[in-house]
Amino acid sequence: MSPSPGETVFDKAAARIVRGVDELRTALAPHRRAGARIGLVPTMGFLHDGHVSLLHAARSECDVVVMSLFVNPTQFGPNEDLDRYPRDEERDLRLAAAAGTDLVFAPNIAEIYPDGAATTVEVDGGLTSVLDGDPSRRGPEHFRGVTTIVAKLFNIVGPDVAYFGQKDAQQAAVIKRMVRDLDFPLRVEVMPTVREEDGLAMSSRNVYLEAADRIRAVALSRALAACEQQALALDSLDAGLAAARIELAAAAIEPEYLEARDAETLQPVDRLGVGRPVLIAVAARVGGARLIDNVLIESIVD
Ligand code: AMP
Repeated sequence: MSPSPGETVFDKAAARIVRGVDELRTALAPHRRAGARIGLVPTMGFLHDGHVSLLHAARSECDVVVMSLFVNPTQFGPNEDLDRYPRDEERDLRLAAAAGTDLVFAPNIAEIYPDGAATTVEVDGGLTSVLDGDPSRRGPEHFRGVTTIVAKLFNIVGPDVAYFGQKDAQQAAVIKRMVRDLDFPLRVEVMPTVREEDGLAMSSRNVYLEAADRIRAVALSRALAACEQQALALDSLDAGLAAARIELAAAAIEPEYLEARDAETLQPVDRLGVGRPVLIAVAARVGGARLIDNVLIESIVD
């Protein structure tokens, strides 16, 4: 019998941890046969309330909640933070269980990329070569790493719904396009960005911020709020972006980019559209952390 959404099907005290692909498929098979709706929340661990919000969304809509916990090496560039990326599996398991997760899929690297793995999934269409995908930044290779691991997780878990965060707006747009183009039989849900009380977007990488930089980092969300407010007040994206730049400069932050783009196609836009949300995306290095954040400005209704 399949439980109703909101109920956990496995042990409530601790999410069950599964390391192998076959073991995961075996654990899910009876539930799938019984018609259970399976929700997947892909993560790289070191959970915070942003991750937990995705787990809660999955718990409220699905019969079985699977969280993957895998620091995916192929989405890190050679000079990025793979080696020092924060990890705490025990704490993650506790938080995942408390959020109602049934299964935590935490494979090792060889399980995911066995010797000879030679296939990747790449989304083009201008989505992966702009913003973070610009070759001078993380580059398209970053998104190739993301889409390859997410496609593999979709094939391993077979979810009905997969949950992602708006915090990583470009990633969400790229994954939605992949799902559409490759006909993955699932629905992608993108949940709002969860923030600290002062506005800083939650991120596992915030642990890299020293005290003074933690205070400066709030300028990113402040800049985005100013941008939205001014853009809407003056019906001008230029005015909004100028207001954002002032906030960043006041905190001595030089953004890697601060751009207005169509939220779905990621093409540049220069004015607020009618009927299409505009994504304002920012990335900046603040002390030891490279931070990204964004806001969606809904269209002005005529
Ligand atoms: P990560 O572990 O950083 O790869 O993130 C796993 C998922 O959590 C991704 O879909 C992220 O977009 C999402 N996520 C990360 N930070 C936040 C946040 N502050 N609010 C909402 N979702 C988030």
